[in-house]
Amino acid sequence: MKHNFGAGPCILPQEVFAQAAEAVLNFNGTGLSILEISHRSKEFEAVITEAEQLVRELLKVPAGHSVLFLQGGASQQFAQVPMNLLPEGGKAAYLDSGVWASKAIKEAKKMGNIEVVASSKDANYTYIPKEYTIPSDAAYFHYTTNNTIYGTELFETPVSPVPLVSDMSSDIFSRVIDVADFGLIYAGAQKNLGPAGLTLVIVEDDLLGKTGRNLPAIFDFKEHAAAHSLYHTPPVFSIYVAMLNLRWLKAKGGIAAIEQENIVKARTLYEEIERNSLFKTTAVPADRSRMNVNFVPAKPEVEAAFLDLAKERGLVGLKGHRSVGGFRASLYNALPITSVNALVDAMQEFEESFKQ
Ligand SMILES: *Cc1c(COP(=O)(O)O)cnc(C)c1O
Repeated sequence: MKHNFGAGPCILPQEVFAQAAEAVLNFNGTGLSILEISHRSKEFEAVITEAEQLVRELLKVPAGHSVLFLQGGASQQFAQVPMNLLPEGGKAAYLDSGVWASKAIKEAKKMGNIEVVASSKDANYTYIPKEYTIPSDAAYFHYTTNNTIYGTELFETPVSPVPLVSDMSSDIFSRVIDVADFGLIYAGAQKNLGPAGLTLVIVEDDLLGKTGRNLPAIFDFKEHAAAHSLYHTPPVFSIYVAMLNLRWLKAKGGIAAIEQENIVKARTLYEEIERNSLFKTTAVPADRSRMNVNFVPAKPEVEAAFLDLAKERGLVGLKGHRSVGGFRASLYNALPITSVNALVDAMQEFEESFKQ
């Protein structure tokens, strides 16, 4: 048994893996693999319909918002969002809180005039900027809810005079949000929703079709919304596995219930990091992420030794991102508290071994 702390693609529930494996061989008793059925078959129609219903139910998506299952990852959305929401010659506002945010800014600049309202780059993104003004003449304000690489998370939805657009790739479905606060939400699936290859977009219909751009159909949210995500072949298998994962989440009591578990998991680990003389956190306490816990060794020379011990214990995916170093433990929905406890035990033993 491995304890998978990888940042993404990440752990999903074991029962979801088992069901997905079965469907690869014989999907719902059809005698066919999920990999060989038509995306226009009635069997798949039932899958994508249930997946959409589960997204709507779990996130309480209000009427007037489309739920889209697309390809291309969150990185494609860095370009596709301004294509669809930023009018020719218009302006959009962005918050620079990490590498993903800065990549979104870089792509949006190719589409129009981008005002970066604040940045924490000078502090290696250890905090989320709070003091800034969102210009009321912007088409939208874009920010990242959870900075996967730096382990910072913005729990409070900003008050904005313009529609909010949010990259929620690494914390969607981990905590309660009010979708009505957002004009558009996007997320690459592989951090908390399902396998790579699927991107979820939730968009307020009223915002679409107003840029004056003549978009290729494949990039146009209106085309995908009108076709209920079947404008072309969607990522069939990834949608199926995401649907299984959302069923699992619903059976666990939904987002409010998993949020309580996520709070306990994160608190357990942060408390140990603070108590343990060999480790320290990198993000400022007020902005610490529940999903990605970054920490570094108090003495750089013990880093490799701790990774060795972790490996011995089956604790995998703990090496920090190259831009932060140290360790990163990702605590997505499917990671059980027992895995967090196993990590805490290893950290305590590691500290003990230095006392002898
Ligand atoms: C992983 C990640 C991305 C990039 O996702 P891709 O699907 O690989 O393009 C973007 N934003 C955030 C917040 C992420 O965690």
